[in-house]
Amino acid sequence: ESYISRLSLTEPHLHSFLHISDTLLRDAQLIDRKIEKGEDVGPLAGVLVGVKDNICTADMPSTGGSRILENYKAPFNATAVRRVKEKDGILIGKTNMDEFGMGSTTEASSFQVTANPWDLSRVPGGSSGGSAAAVSARQCMVSLGSDTGGSVRQPASFCGVVGLKPTYGRVSRFGLMAYASSLDVIGCFGTSVADTGILLHVISGHDRFDATSSNREVPDFSSQFSSINLVESKPLKGLKVGLIRETLEDGVDNGVKSAISGAASHLEELGCTVTEVSLPSFSLGLPAYYILASSESSSNLSRYDGVRYGNQVFAEELNALYNDSRAKGFGPEVQMRILMGTYALSAGYYDAYYKRAQQVRTLIRKSFKDALDDNDILISPVAPSAAYKIGEKKNDPLAMYAGDIMTKWLGPALIGLKESYFKPIMPHFTLLLTVPSSSHRSCLILIEPL
Ligand code: GLN
Repeated sequence: ESYISRLSLTEPHLHSFLHISDTLLRDAQLIDRKIEKGEDVGPLAGVLVGVKDNICTADMPSTGGSRILENYKAPFNATAVRRVKEKDGILIGKTNMDEFGMGSTTEASSFQVTANPWDLSRVPGGSSGGSAAAVSARQCMVSLGSDTGGSVRQPASFCGVVGLKPTYGRVSRFGLMAYASSLDVIGCFGTSVADTGILLHVISGHDRFDATSSNREVPDFSSQFSSINLVESKPLKGLKVGLIRETLEDGVDNGVKSAISGAASHLEELGCTVTEVSLPSFSLGLPAYYILASSESSSNLSRYDGVRYGNQVFAEELNALYNDSRAKGFGPEVQMRILMGTYALSAGYYDAYYKRAQQVRTLIRKSFKDALDDNDILISPVAPSAAYKIGEKKNDPLAMYAGDIMTKWLGPALIGLKESYFKPIMPHFTLLLTVPSSSHRSCLILIEPL
């Protein structure tokens, strides 16, 4: 009940949700009853979970932020959602997002713009802006988002909450609307690393409906957080941290630079040695990402043709039906991506664009590997600036794309980690780090071994 009244207070200002569950109280009462009867309940019992609107839910609409799927209701729950429900989590609603995940501010949603709870004139980031804003404003306790090229990490940074992009394959993508399948990952938001760890633990693991999901065992990510006092126990002693030089060069706000140097000193106080490391292929990440992501999306989004999926615009002839349904259903950013992707994949251009972008991806992977030969982890800011004003970059797509520079393949903003290092500290899990990512907010990052 307290969350329902909080929603009615905050939602008119924030617009984080596209849909709020109408069975919320009943779902909560069911869990209450289970507890009263002494039945076993899962680790999410009574936890209100927001779900990004590109993750399918059987009892609520799933639009992906797109007019073309307005009022669409999926016939099934995504695996991540099913697992949340099986562990007694309560779905509070579906969160706003840039259409099909294409954007960095939620301004590309077909339905509404979400505001940043810390300053309503600013963007919450994107594309999972609704999920980040909802947790930040305490409209829900944790939430699910998706991250293809920064869409969990960047809004978490802009809204001052924990955002985690798990390793690809850790969480099943079954029921996640595909944007760029080779990069798409479902991730988590929370107000603490421990909460985020609990949610990750619940949704992780192999799924026979997603062949790319990993069958590695799922450690209990949340088990030991409370017992560690980082400052007193100096558990990070001897850890070699590489600060990626290229992420702190021109174009990065001074506030971000000083936040990162503050984080570096903090890590040193905890016993780490921090040195600068160069990642020569850093600047190639952004252009290669936008070619690969647009190409894959142009293929993935072909299913929304008004016949198999998507709202249909009536026409006398089949091609006109496809054309009109897509022209009316997709917003301008999505149409632009489809055009770019189709161009990059066309005969005669494939080698020059898509294939080269794939080669660049291999190069980037190699330069990470090299940097990790000398370092246990790598760190960088999440974005070159803190949250900017609504409308500031809306009509300048290149400026908006440029803001994504840190989160293209630079892993979780970015940390690579040698697997063995943290074993002595947290037998299963890895590391939690506080990396201030903007001038006054910090982003906690939870890392799983690569
Ligand atoms: N800004 C990125 C894009 O528009 C975000 C992608 C994502 O992670 N969904 O492609």
